[in-house]
Amino acid sequence: MRNPKGDIYLFNTLTRKREKFVPIEKGKVRMYCCGPTVYWYAHIGNFRTYIFEDVLRRVLEFNGFEVKHVMNITDVGHLTSDADTGEDKMEVGAQRERKTVWEIADFYAEKFFEDSERLNILRPTIVCRATDHIADMIEFIRKLEEKGYTYIIDDGVYFDTLKLKNYGKLTGMNFERLNETLKAGARVEYNPNKRNLTDFCLWRFSPKDRKRQMEWDSPWGVGFPGWHIECTVMGMKYLGEHFDIHCGGIDHIPIHHTNEIAQAEAATGRPPANYWLHGAFLVFGKSMKMAKSAGEIITVQTIMDEGFDPLAFRYLCLTAHYRSELVFTWESLQSAQNALSTLREHVRSLAENLEGSVSRSPKFEEYYEKFLEAVNDDLNMPKALALTWVLVREEKMLTNREKYDLLMEFDKVFALDLARNVQREEKLPPEAEELIRKREDARKAKDWTAADKIREQLRAMGIIVEDTPQGVRWRIEKR
Ligand code: AMP
Ligand code: ZN
Repeated sequence: MRNPKGDIYLFNTLTRKREKFVPIEKGKVRMYCCGPTVYWYAHIGNFRTYIFEDVLRRVLEFNGFEVKHVMNITDVGHLTSDADTGEDKMEVGAQRERKTVWEIADFYAEKFFEDSERLNILRPTIVCRATDHIADMIEFIRKLEEKGYTYIIDDGVYFDTLKLKNYGKLTGMNFERLNETLKAGARVEYNPNKRNLTDFCLWRFSPKDRKRQMEWDSPWGVGFPGWHIECTVMGMKYLGEHFDIHCGGIDHIPIHHTNEIAQAEAATGRPPANYWLHGAFLVFGKSMKMAKSAGEIITVQTIMDEGFDPLAFRYLCLTAHYRSELVFTWESLQSAQNALSTLREHVRSLAENLEGSVSRSPKFEEYYEKFLEAVNDDLNMPKALALTWVLVREEKMLTNREKYDLLMEFDKVFALDLARNVQREEKLPPEAEELIRKREDARKAKDWTAADKIREQLRAMGIIVEDTPQGVRWRIEKR
């Protein structure tokens, strides 16, 4: 539309302050978001975090920034306990499914992107896999070794956190307090040969009695990389030693991101990113954390099977500020679904009566500015939604055209497909109608390969089909 003049404010975990966002390079943002560990389906808790990161990216783009968004896929080295003990989640997943680690990595990575697409989460500019960067990680660990930050014990090469000034600053605790807290809260066994409880593994040796599916030679012995090293190495590789934003869920503050900062500081003398943003958890009932390893999980597919539009879940996420805990209930999802349907109906009815001037009245500008102010205020989406409801329900001074245009602008950030019902009235070319019918026949015959092939043919024609509980929906992709 135009280049807005407003400033963006973000809450930075590193400084514990709401700060004005100033990019390193004018007009550009380099951002790293920790990606999924692909040993199982991502659950809706994980997706709450990815939706928050997607909203952040969209807000930055709405403000005219060019965003380079990098996300890793963890396909090795993430142990069942974040405290650096237990088994590799990937190997556990492979045993469970009697498949190779590589097969489950491919399968769950694909499912992850399928679900992301259903939630209108933009694909990162660069997606990088840990197993494609083993040589880079070995190189980086060597650098840390040269600088004297590492030591070797029975099960691997460790990072000595005491060697670093200010280790743990992301948590707001000093070194001693962090170690004491860890000791007090230690529910898991830790290797007693570690010099400090906070020390973490950079390279883990393969067990002597068992052959792992994934292992590589290294200067220290056959093994595999620790989980934290992958993000440091890939972040720096694709975004440079120093970039703008690093994100994840709050569980990453005390261990994963703290250790990412430690590794980068040891190598370069400063944290890899200026702004550290963390999303609060999605929880059930009594603040129970929803963990993938707990077995029973709710996925995007689960909510679709229950008859919900996946974007109703996105709407639900937008009703809470990303730094507040969000309690999930089926009732709250139902309310979100109702609200979203009502909003889409408003948009459809506006589109049917699009009278009014396309020029921008001062009132139009006022709404635009208020929206921008809300989203630029540390992503205040509840406020942006409230403004949207005032606009559709109460506003008398704007023409339908202006309201419609504003809603389409807002939807660049919401990404709720607000015009979905409008677009359904677009006309499909007859050959596309025929293909959709054929695909339906294939689906009825459970011939998924043929159905997928037709979906691809339609996509090549710019038509996206989605299977929803209400039947097949289609939309024409804007080009
Ligand atoms: P993981 O695949 O376990 O590495 O998690 C992927 C992302 O989801 C990370 O950014 C986590 O911080 C985040 N996450 C995990 N559980 C939840 C939850 N219940 N609510 C919100 N975010 C979560
Ligand atoms: Zn990470």
